[in-house]
Amino acid sequence: MLYNPFFDGLGERSTHQETKDLLLSCVKNDLQSLCFTGSRKMAELITVWAREDARRTSARLANSISAYRTGFLPEERRAIERELKEGTMKGVVSTNALELGIDLGSLDAVLISGFPGTMISVRQQAGRAGRRSTASLAILIAQANPLDQYFMHHPDRFFKRAHENAIVDVANPYIVSGHLLCATSELPLREDGDREFFGDSLDSLLPELVAGNLLRKTPRGFVYTGRGRASEAVSLSSILSETFRIVCSGRLLETLDRAQAYREAHKGAILLHEGETYLVNEMDPETPTIRVTPTDVDYSTQPLKEIHLTVVETLDQRVVAGMRSFFGEVEVTEQYTGYKIKRGDTILGLEPLSLPPLSFRTKAFWFNPQEHSEQKVESAGLDLAAGLHGAEHAIIALMPLHVLCDRWNIGVFSSPAFGEDGGPAVFVYDGYEGGIGLYEKAFEILPDLFETAYHLVRDCGCEKGCPSCIYSPKCGNDNQPLDKNATILLLAEFCGSLL
Ligand SMILES: [Zn+2]
Ligand SMILES: [Zn+2]
Repeated sequence: MLYNPFFDGLGERSTHQETKDLLLSCVKNDLQSLCFTGSRKMAELITVWAREDARRTSARLANSISAYRTGFLPEERRAIERELKEGTMKGVVSTNALELGIDLGSLDAVLISGFPGTMISVRQQAGRAGRRSTASLAILIAQANPLDQYFMHHPDRFFKRAHENAIVDVANPYIVSGHLLCATSELPLREDGDREFFGDSLDSLLPELVAGNLLRKTPRGFVYTGRGRASEAVSLSSILSETFRIVCSGRLLETLDRAQAYREAHKGAILLHEGETYLVNEMDPETPTIRVTPTDVDYSTQPLKEIHLTVVETLDQRVVAGMRSFFGEVEVTEQYTGYKIKRGDTILGLEPLSLPPLSFRTKAFWFNPQEHSEQKVESAGLDLAAGLHGAEHAIIALMPLHVLCDRWNIGVFSSPAFGEDGGPAVFVYDGYEGGIGLYEKAFEILPDLFETAYHLVRDCGCEKGCPSCIYSPKCGNDNQPLDKNATILLLAEFCGSLL
C-alpha cells in the first residue's frame, strides 16, 4: 500500500505521526509489526509517541512496543529479537538495522516510514512481513520530499521499478581494507596467491593493518586478530569509522561514528536513546568520549555546518548540455558552526559550536553553468546564489532515481565564484571517504538528472518552494537563501540544449 499524508498539499500532521498511528492500529489489531524509519532519532521518537498513546489503553500494550537500532548494546538487541520471536513484542520500530541478516521469523505487517532510498531496501523491508500461507501487509508512508512524492504520483513507476544495480569501487583502499579483515577472519591470506583478488593495494594495506593490531603474519599467511567479529568492525553505512562512546554516569549507552557524533551528539545536543532524552554535557574528540545526563526537555537541536571543497585532481572532463562538466577527486571539509534549538518548527535560539573540521577525500562531479544562464537569472532580477542553492537541493533529492545511493550519503556544494573562469560551479560529491564509485557514470546521468529536477520543481504546486521540491532537511545552511523561480530558470537552462 502506498500511503500519502500529503495527497492534497501539506497538512497538519507529519509522516512520522501518521506512521505512529498506523503502527498503533496494527498493534491493537494484534498484527505483529515492524516499522522502519530513516533515522535513529525517528525510531526513538515514534516509539515514545506510540508508547504514550498505547498507555491510555493499557500498560501492557505500551510495553509491547520498542525501538531497535545498531547503536544498542548486543544484549539489548538479543532481548528484543527473542521477545519478537516469542510474540510478546508486538511492535518494533527500527532503522534499517533489522533489514538484513537477523532472523526474526516472519511478521504480519511492515510499515516503511518514508522511501528508504532504494528499491532494494523497500523489498528487503517489505519482505519481513508474510507468514507462510497467511496474508500480510506492507505500507510505504510518504514523506514531503521530492522522491517520495514522485513515487506517490507515479505508482506505476514505483511498482514496475527494477531494483538498482549495486555500485562498489573495489579499488577504494577503505573498502579493500574492510574486505581484507573479513577475508582473513575466514582463511589465512597469502601475499602472493591472493593478490589476484585484492590487487597491489596489499603492499600498503597489510603493514598498516598489522601495525593496527588487526592482522598478524603467521607461517600460513595473514590472519585476523582484531577484537570482535571482523564483519562488525566494517561499517557499511559510513567509512569515517572512528568510534565515539556515549557514557552516562559511567555506563556505556551506545557508540557513534565521528560523522554521526558531530551531527547528533555535539555539546548541548539533545540525544535520544531508547526513548529517553539526554543532554550532551561534553564531547571529547581526543578520547573519543561523549558524556550525557538524562534530562526532561521539550526542545530538540539541529546542527548547522559549512562545507569547503577543493579539487585535488580532475580525472575527466566533457561538455554536457552545453556546460563544462568534470569528474575527479576532491577534498571536502565539513565544519559544524553551531546549532539551532527548536520546539517544533519554532526556533528558540542559536548556539555556536567549535568542533575540529571533518576532512576527507572523495570523488565528485561538477559543472559550470554557462555565463548566459547567469545573466538570464540576474536580468530577471533574481538571486543567482538562491537559484543555485535550490538547483543543488533538487538535484541531490533526485540522485537516487539515477544511481544507487542514499541521499544522506551524497554531499553537494555550490559557489557563485568557483569555476576555472571565476564563474559559478555546482559540485555533487560521494559522502563515502575515498568514494565508492557512485559517480563514475556522472556524465551519462547528468542530462536525465537535470531534466527530472527541472520537471519536479516546475510542476510542484507550491508558490515559493517547499519540502517536496527545493527545501532540504539536511541543508546545513537552514534552507537559506532559496528562490524557486531562480531555480526553475537555472534548471531550464541546464536542460537548454536537451528540451
Ligand atoms: Zn514545492
Ligand atoms: Zn542547502
